[in-house]
Amino acid sequence: MKNFTPIIGLEIHVELKTRSKMFCSCAADYFGKKPNTHTCPVCLGLPGALPVPNKTAIEWCIKLGLALNCQIPAYSKFDRKNYFYPDLPKGYQISQYDQPFAVNGHLAIEGKKIRIRRVHMEEDTGKLLHAKVDEENCTLIDFNRSGVPLVEIVTEPDIRSSTDAKKFLQELYLIIRYLDISDADMEKGSMRLEPNISVRIKNDELPKYKVEVKNINSFNFVKKAIDYEVERQIEILEKGETPKQETRGWDENKGLTYSQRTKEEAHDYRYFPEPDIPPFRWDSKDIKAIKIPELPQSRRLRLVSKLELRKEEADILVSDKQKADYFEEAVNVVRRLKIGEITVQELANWIVNKRIDVQKSTPADLVKAILGKRKKSEISSDTLTKALEEVLKNNQKAVADFKQGKQQALMFLLGQVLRITKGKGRAEDIKKLLIEKLT
Ligand code: ZN
Ligand code: MN
Repeated sequence: MKNFTPIIGLEIHVELKTRSKMFCSCAADYFGKKPNTHTCPVCLGLPGALPVPNKTAIEWCIKLGLALNCQIPAYSKFDRKNYFYPDLPKGYQISQYDQPFAVNGHLAIEGKKIRIRRVHMEEDTGKLLHAKVDEENCTLIDFNRSGVPLVEIVTEPDIRSSTDAKKFLQELYLIIRYLDISDADMEKGSMRLEPNISVRIKNDELPKYKVEVKNINSFNFVKKAIDYEVERQIEILEKGETPKQETRGWDENKGLTYSQRTKEEAHDYRYFPEPDIPPFRWDSKDIKAIKIPELPQSRRLRLVSKLELRKEEADILVSDKQKADYFEEAVNVVRRLKIGEITVQELANWIVNKRIDVQKSTPADLVKAILGKRKKSEISSDTLTKALEEVLKNNQKAVADFKQGKQQALMFLLGQVLRITKGKGRAEDIKKLLIEKLT
């Protein structure tokens, strides 16, 4: 690996969870529905049907662009991307070519800046099903997915390791969840990942080829596919050859990528402006009206700096918006009721260690549970002192060990005290008392 640097970019497709499809009023929630029940002349590509763009979908696309620090050009348009495939009844996909809704953004992953080239709007295709009908192998087409709003995010090739690629994708996923614009469920195909990979020989210019791995549906598979590709390409480069520019698939069972087709160039698609949809001109007022909620990165910082939560717990909580919301509500309950003895960290620990089910209980329930546990563990200082003296008397060896610096002996003594009190008393308090008595 010494002389080689992986050059990695990502392309991500995300289905938006709008009520209707991108260019017609069919319901967009196609998943698990009876085939071809969510269709109309527009999404079936029948001649003469006219597309009408979905305003919410465009707003959400721009919203994601803004969340990724993109610029929103004042002028934008749709284009036709022409190609033939049975799942594409029109013979072209309405997409965006040279004037996408959002450009030139970035997202920092652990201080490393990954540039976002563009975020554009397009439509999903239908779905092919390979099945056996009357003993014969055949392919069935379900057009329920045809025309579902799809956002494509393209990064610059700024990523240098499979680990960073995975981290980037996890953060992007979280941002999408926080914006509440897609369920981004990879198992259902509503978030689809395509890394493009090449390897640069040190001090050389950027590679002249690139290999794209198509339609991966898990962050871990992306990581594995990148690792596999980097190794495969280095082997070729070491022989003095150049890897082929092509599209490959990922076979999870065999743990390898396989060649699918040589990669198309943009000119193969004969892009041209979509004549049925007028271009867009945004006023700065339109863009300012699109509000971005607090995003995961600022939330992590705020939980650590303002609430003084440990970074570990902040990361875990923020990675699940529902949990983080629950936590912050619990903090508010404690503050409102002025329950000074419950700390922010304690609330976080209870949620992170799953001692409470955030699906089934309210934040007030959590506060009650912690206070209840406190009551139960209360113990009179008399009883505690007696237990302590008994333990110290009966465990001379552990006492001697501790005095010689064996920290484990303290934990042993603490366990003995708790055995006598049947678990009552706070471990922290007892530890303090023991240390006082022993030093
Ligand atoms: Zn339709
Ligand atoms: Mn696309």
